[in-house]
Amino acid sequence: MAKKIIFLGPPGAGKGTQAKQLAESLEIPHISTGDMLRSAIAQKTPLGQKAQKYVDAGELVPDELLVDLMRERLSQPDAQKGWILDGFPRTLQQGSFLDNLLQEMKQSPDVILNLEVPNEELIQRLLARGRRDDTEETIRRRLEVYWEQTQPLLDYYRDRKGFYSVNGNLPPEEVTQSLEKIVQS
Ligand code: AMP
Repeated sequence: MAKKIIFLGPPGAGKGTQAKQLAESLEIPHISTGDMLRSAIAQKTPLGQKAQKYVDAGELVPDELLVDLMRERLSQPDAQKGWILDGFPRTLQQGSFLDNLLQEMKQSPDVILNLEVPNEELIQRLLARGRRDDTEETIRRRLEVYWEQTQPLLDYYRDRKGFYSVNGNLPPEEVTQSLEKIVQS
């Protein structure tokens, strides 16, 4: 059974919802950099204050802020038995940082999941969601940023053992079933 999972996919693909469920069924922590940043912003921590303008504009927060956050999070006791990473890595630089960090920690991902959803469907879903960074303008920007900066990561991971692309353009229960099947095998 997979216990160390990297979860990739564009904004609006349903990663957050699916990752949360997988984390529960596998009893591993759900590590969402988006959630961590939103909570830092709400609490006005130094990280939150630095990150806010990027999150509100739909831009990526600078890699160096994320790198410290992830190093700290992955070294927590609850992350030693496994994790599902949702929203990290998002750039090639973050991908290579993660490889190095995991190597240092003598860990490696069991599976890398990529959730695929067509662009038009993503826009509809994001417009319907209504989060504070879900305005039409930031949605457009977040999708652009995804295609420019995050999508190249798929080529970085595609040929690795344990890489799976999953159709996310199906009812959520069906997507959950496909994902469960992969991680349980
Ligand atoms: P998410 O909830 O994953 O859609 O993330 C919301 C926002 O947080 C993104 O639009 C970025 O501004 C920021 N963010 C989350 N994860 C990362 C990351 N790995 N690198 C840079 N920025 C991130």
